[in-house]
Amino acid sequence: MQGVGFRPFVYRSAIELALSGFVCNDNTGVLIEVEGDPLAVDDLCRRLVEEPPPLAIVSSVDVTPIGEKGGREFEIIATAAVGAPTVAVSVDTAACAACLAEVDDPTDRRFRYPFTNCTDCGPRYSIVIGVPYDRASTTMAAFEMCTACRAEYDNPADRRFHAQPNACPVCGPKLRWCLPDGAVVCDGDDALDAAVVALNDGRIVAVKGIGGYHLAADATSAAAVGELRRRKARDDKPFAVMVPDLAAAEALCELEPEAREILTSSRRPIVVAPRRLFATVAVGVAPGLAELGLFLPYSPLHHLLLTALRRRPLVMTSGNRSDEPIANDDADALTRLGPMVDGLLAHDRPIHIRCDDSVARARPGRGVQVLRRSRGYAPEPRSLPIAARRPILAVGAELKSTVAVTKGESVVASHHIGDLEHLANYRSFLQAVDHLCHLYAVEPEVVAHDLHPEYLSTKFAVDLDLEPIAVQHHHAHIASCMTEYGSTGPVLGVAFDGLGYGTDGALWGGEFLVADLCSFERVGHLAPVTMPGGVRAIREPWRMAVAWAGVAGVTGLEDLFPDDRLDAVANLAARGHGPTTTSMGRLFDALAALLGLRSTVTYEGQAAIALEAAACAVPRSAAPVYRLDTRTDDDGQLLLDPTPLICAAVAARASDVSVSIIAAGIHEAIGRAAADTAARLARRHGLATVALSGGVFQNVRLSGIVEERLEADGFEVLVHRWVPANDGGISIGQVAVAAARCRC
Ligand SMILES: [Zn+2]
Ligand SMILES: [Zn+2]
Ligand SMILES: [Zn+2]
Repeated sequence: MQGVGFRPFVYRSAIELALSGFVCNDNTGVLIEVEGDPLAVDDLCRRLVEEPPPLAIVSSVDVTPIGEKGGREFEIIATAAVGAPTVAVSVDTAACAACLAEVDDPTDRRFRYPFTNCTDCGPRYSIVIGVPYDRASTTMAAFEMCTACRAEYDNPADRRFHAQPNACPVCGPKLRWCLPDGAVVCDGDDALDAAVVALNDGRIVAVKGIGGYHLAADATSAAAVGELRRRKARDDKPFAVMVPDLAAAEALCELEPEAREILTSSRRPIVVAPRRLFATVAVGVAPGLAELGLFLPYSPLHHLLLTALRRRPLVMTSGNRSDEPIANDDADALTRLGPMVDGLLAHDRPIHIRCDDSVARARPGRGVQVLRRSRGYAPEPRSLPIAARRPILAVGAELKSTVAVTKGESVVASHHIGDLEHLANYRSFLQAVDHLCHLYAVEPEVVAHDLHPEYLSTKFAVDLDLEPIAVQHHHAHIASCMTEYGSTGPVLGVAFDGLGYGTDGALWGGEFLVADLCSFERVGHLAPVTMPGGVRAIREPWRMAVAWAGVAGVTGLEDLFPDDRLDAVANLAARGHGPTTTSMGRLFDALAALLGLRSTVTYEGQAAIALEAAACAVPRSAAPVYRLDTRTDDDGQLLLDPTPLICAAVAARASDVSVSIIAAGIHEAIGRAAADTAARLARRHGLATVALSGGVFQNVRLSGIVEERLEADGFEVLVHRWVPANDGGISIGQVAVAAARCRC
């Protein structure tokens, strides 16, 4: 990888060990020639593997003995163009301790300088315009290094040797403080001070970061948080909170070791974890939820802001209105964010690729799971279970879009793009496809896409002059999970999600598949039900409640849903007017609505999240026992029938059992039924491994039950870790399937 300080590291080690020779890049990695004491040579080889610089990834070391040359010096040799690198550019990385120490040191020339970075840290993917990765092909091109910075950049023994974004207060980017109309009030240190005064005053400030703008407000002020919610037109979706350090994070949330590790890692994702009872943030930060999303400062600017605010937690939410993409361009930020804020803390280092914060969720007792793979993770390559023989582009699904390309044995997935039905997101999608292919010098011959004919990504793919490979949505989910484990299958895949287009044209989402990477067979699913009103049933879970209540023979919904459309919707459902779905996500919606938790939602998955949050208050051992039926349909498919569960839940509600208790019972019943059905089908097909995927498995209560039960039954269970279980992982699964099919 270029720009991660590997050659200077080799240089410094060789000098220390009194070795002569050289180090240079070649097109597959780094070539080192050394001569000297054999023990010192061995020590160098050990250091390469055990102590590489933080951003370097050493996948293998090949050693070949050569003849003596009698050299005395060790040097870094410049290399001419060496073809497309296997790894083009590293991820954006949080400021390192050495850089922060300089920022805090009044005697250092970078004291209070918000753009301090070195070869171990700083922006990368978000500022790269092209390859090869050097300053001229980043958004730092316009800043000419001063003599002092240039000396660091040219000195192989310096921490900033070839650090492309190297900068200082003399030559680098500058902060500016702007009014909502764009008028610049002040710059540099004064700009930082002005933003701090505004935030202390309960104002809302747009802050330009690494991958885009944030909207910032005092997280302890109910008024500021409420005002932010109003201006952002965001009803309930939780806000992420930035805290100064781990101790501050632990004051707000309960963190297990793996959550602490990922929170403090240089990737710096938002970590969603159980909140403490008396966590000192305003209720409006995460209304009705038992968890908070926390992250630590990752740029020196964040560090300076939180220090100046005397460690008060800050809401730092994406700079956008509801579902639009996060603002990264300054003019666009002014237009879109200006009306929402009291001031903008901006700067003159452009962001080339918008890159949202990544999000990971702690699974109590079971590690963490990445829900949104973006800044700090993209575009890090990962190995494919089956290497691609031809260059492949995968265009993902429609919601939570990502795209991916193959580079030899690896898959490279883009940052999070968002929901494609927004034009601005679709533009980002087109840009991401171009950028990824360009950065990695990939000229795709094959394009993998979803089976859904109406997805914009599908339409884009089939219009390309490439060989198309259609991958069924849930097969892609399962393949994405297998990819994490390097598994080629076959596995028994359980894919539970919102909706995905099935091979029969129905909307699937509660599927049991026997799958390898090439193909799959559907062997079981949730019983089908009508979605009255089609896609409207997604935003209005009460419609799914009416449909499922009809199937289960439950009546008397008038009190629960006092809506004039109730009878009409019940009629549509009864007569089967509307698409048919086997979606587990829609069943969770229906149950949440029947318990009175949510009859409509403002964001995807909200009803299911409310149901999970309700269950949280009840230990698993106290959950009542409900059940689902299983039966075999005419096609030999094993069917999971939730009607007994629906009847029991409604009856419990009628006799005033608490919603939390019922919610716990629902999770227990669905989790057990899913595990038992998977086990039965796996045994029937001679499989020892079960893979769990789809957005429903972001529910940690549910996935914990399924995983535990299957493990107790002797199965190996694959659950998502670094690939999102939701549609953000689809492009990775599509690549894995297409790579395998190109070999079949
Ligand atoms: Zn650094
Ligand atoms: Zn400088
Ligand atoms: Zn899906």
